[in-house]
Amino acid sequence: MTVKVAINGYGTIGKRAASAVSAQDDMEIIGVTKTRPSYEAFLARDNGYPLHTDADREAAFKEAGLEVAGSADELFAAADIVIDCTPGGVGEQYRPVYEKAGVKAIFQGGEDHGVAGISFNATANYQESWGAQFSRVVSCNTTGLLRTLYPLDEAFGIEEAFSVLVRRGADPGDSKKGPINAIEPALKLPTHHGPDVQSVMPWLNIETMAVKVPTTIMHLHANTVDLKEEVSTEQVLDVWSKAPRITFVKGADGIKSSAQVMELARDMGRSRGDLFEIAVWADGVKVVGSKLFYYQAVHQESDVVPEIVDCIRSMCKVEKDAARSIAKTNAAMGIPR
Ligand code: NAD
Repeated sequence: MTVKVAINGYGTIGKRAASAVSAQDDMEIIGVTKTRPSYEAFLARDNGYPLHTDADREAAFKEAGLEVAGSADELFAAADIVIDCTPGGVGEQYRPVYEKAGVKAIFQGGEDHGVAGISFNATANYQESWGAQFSRVVSCNTTGLLRTLYPLDEAFGIEEAFSVLVRRGADPGDSKKGPINAIEPALKLPTHHGPDVQSVMPWLNIETMAVKVPTTIMHLHANTVDLKEEVSTEQVLDVWSKAPRITFVKGADGIKSSAQVMELARDMGRSRGDLFEIAVWADGVKVVGSKLFYYQAVHQESDVVPEIVDCIRSMCKVEKDAARSIAKTNAAMGIPR
C-alpha cells in the first residue's frame, strides 16, 4: 500500500515533511497547498508536487506562471492523510475541514493537544495513534525532551525532571521575529513545555522554564533529572547510545556551541543541512548520586520531521512495530540510528 499524503502549508515544516515522505517507498506526496505564489510555491512545483489553492486565489498563481492542479478541498478529498503544517493556531481551524473530507490529519506542535486528543512521539507512544483519524506530532522542544527522557525513564525511572529551555528567537528564514539584542524570559511559569511532554508521558513529573535568545540556529536545553536509582554517567550514555535519534557531540572535539553542531550537520551533507537527531554533549553529562545533569541541542526546523513519517505509518496502519517504522524512516533519511 502506498499512502497518499497531502501537505497543507508548504513552509518550514511542510517542505521538510514533503521531502521526508518522498524519500519513503510506502508513501507519496499527491499535492501541496499554497495560499500565495511565493518562492516556496515555485520550489514545490520544481519538486514535482501538484499545487492546490482555493478558487479565489487561482488567478494570482496563473499570473505568476504557476499551474494550479485544483482546490485545497479537492486535494484533501483525494488524500489518505493530510499533514497540516499551517502556522500554530491555524491548524485547529482546519479540523472541521478534514472531518468533512473524511481524511486523516496530523497536526503540529503549534496546536494544543486537544486539537487531536492524541500527541505523538515515535519512541514513546507510537501505538496510541494506531488507526487514529487525528494525531499531533509534538513541538520541536517537546520532541527533544521526549527523545532523551523516555529512554531514561524506561531504564532507571525518573523521580523528577527540570529543564531550562534556551529558545532560538526565530527560524533562519524568518526575518520578522526577534529578539535581536535581548534575552527574553517566559514569565508564565512553569512554562507549557512540561505539560506538553506530559501529553505523551502523562506520568512524568517535569517542570520547565524558558528564555528566548537572539539566535536562529537551535534551541538548547539545560536539564536536571532525579533518577529513581543511583547510576553512573557511563550507564546514562549507554542508554542514550541505544535510543533512536540521539547523537553525541563533544566539546573536546571542538563542538562547543550550537554553531558547531549545525556546521557538523551541514558537513554531513544532510538535506538542507538539517539535524534530525537531538545532539547531546557527551562530555557535558554528569551524574552525582542519582541526579543527572546534561545539555542537549534541538534543530527546531527538522527534529520533528522523521516523527511525522512514523506518525503516518501508525495512523494509516502501515507498520505495527514502532522500532521497524523508526528504522525504515531513518534508513530513507540517512539517520544512522
Ligand atoms: P511556516 O510559517 O514556516 O509555514 C506555514 C505555512 O502555512 C506557510 O507556507 C504559509 O503560507 C501557510 N499558511 C498560512 N496560513 C495558511 C492557511 N490559512 N491555510 C493554508 N496554509 C497556510 O510555519 P512552520 O514553522 O512550518 O510551522 C508550522 C507548524 O509546525 C506550527 O504548528 C509550528 O508550531 C510547528 N513547528 C514549527 C517548528 C519550527 O521551528 N519552525 C518546529 C516544530 C513544529
